[in-house]
Amino acid sequence: MKIHLKVKNAQDGQKIYRVVDEMSQSLQTLGFQNCCQTCENQGMVFPASIKGNQGIFCDTCFNKALQESGSSSGNFGLGVVGAILGSLIGVAAWVGIYQLNIIAGIAGFLMFYFSFKGYELLGKKKDKKGVIVSLVICIVMVLVAEFLGIVIAIMRELNFSFSNAAAFFEVSLRDSAEIKLELIKELMIGYGLMIVATYSSARQTFKEVGNDKDTVRL
Ligand SMILES: [Zn+2]
Repeated sequence: MKIHLKVKNAQDGQKIYRVVDEMSQSLQTLGFQNCCQTCENQGMVFPASIKGNQGIFCDTCFNKALQESGSSSGNFGLGVVGAILGSLIGVAAWVGIYQLNIIAGIAGFLMFYFSFKGYELLGKKKDKKGVIVSLVICIVMVLVAEFLGIVIAIMRELNFSFSNAAAFFEVSLRDSAEIKLELIKELMIGYGLMIVATYSSARQTFKEVGNDKDTVRL
């Protein structure tokens, strides 16, 4: 049974507290007892919150709920593998878009999206850790993708081998301020869009898992 009381001032609050206290004491002398809300066991019970659901619970039920909330943590290792695999889709998209002479940075959004999806699929869990791990992986993968995109473009344009194209890129990067600027612009767009993707995923995830940790004694 739940009773909601609205209190106008502190004095009323104290009066109500006294009334409730007397009520529960006289109920106890009449043989009424507190019992666990889930299993109706009348042993040691205490107020607690299970996944945001507040009430009176026994040790057994509370510990069970605590374990359940812990065991739903999925598989973090597989999640990381999923995030890496997912980010590779983003790398492929980045390299492909680069060959079309379009600003490849727009793939920064896709990269985080697929990376986090990969974490979710293989790790079987959406959580804050996954957002952070996916972001770190993608920060590195953007550099890999940009490098690959440029080197492959040079290979195609000049009919170079991979190592020759990589060496050519290294020299031009050192010598040409224009190329440097172009590279920085590309990376900034990529990282900027990645932050947008991360922000929206993070907000949604944090909202969904917000009650997860709410299994506590009160
Ligand atoms: Zn119980």
